[in-house]
Amino acid sequence: MTPRLNLVILGIQGAGKGTQCKRLAATYAIPHISTGDILRAAVKSGSALGREVSSVLESGALVSDELVNRLVQDRFTQPDAGRGGLLDGFPRTIGQAEALEVMLGDDGIKLCINLQAPIELVTRRLSSRRVCQECGAIYTDTDVEAISGTCSNCGGDVVQRSDDQPEAIRTRLETYERDTAPLLDFYEARHLLEQVNGDQRPDDVTRAIEAVVHARELT
Ligand code: ADP
Repeated sequence: MTPRLNLVILGIQGAGKGTQCKRLAATYAIPHISTGDILRAAVKSGSALGREVSSVLESGALVSDELVNRLVQDRFTQPDAGRGGLLDGFPRTIGQAEALEVMLGDDGIKLCINLQAPIELVTRRLSSRRVCQECGAIYTDTDVEAISGTCSNCGGDVVQRSDDQPEAIRTRLETYERDTAPLLDFYEARHLLEQVNGDQRPDDVTRAIEAVVHARELT
């Protein structure tokens, strides 16, 4: 059996993980597994899970390890994850990273890419970000789609995420420093970490990530 391609994309909020993951998932034919997207979809659907997590998401704090670990475990049992997955927004704590190792067993994480971006840049990106509620397309506040409120890709509503408000942005960035930054050492110690500069044009970031994946002979 071909080994699975399990990749983790780490990086502070606004570093560009979502944008890159959409492209990489298509290139490597593996599903983009974003716990943030899964949780937001649950909130939107009004399910029991969505009702449980909606206020936590709005505040910018993290939901429990136990809950997200379960969501990711379930996601990996779906057929499209048979070749692996591209993890975005998970793991976010050491507890989640340890749970992921247990979940994946021997055919585990092959590479962790840290998308680096300075704090001023990400703060600016997050506060001007607008997203399509239907297809997830990302715009900035000066784009015509953001001004009109209509997505040019699918016609869905383009809105500001509730956690892209200043107070929640602050909470998310603090939470990142406290809970998620320690994962860099976790993956470095396992010789799985590669750094990529996220402060360049999206196409150049994509090329840089692909070069790293190629250099490790993962494809
Ligand atoms: P961002 O990384 O820009 O904050 P995400 O879309 O990845 O946004 O996540 C949105 C929210 O969903 C987080 O602020 C948090 O409340 C919740 N969330 C997502 N992934 C996790 C996770 N792995 N552990 C705990 N909470 C999570």
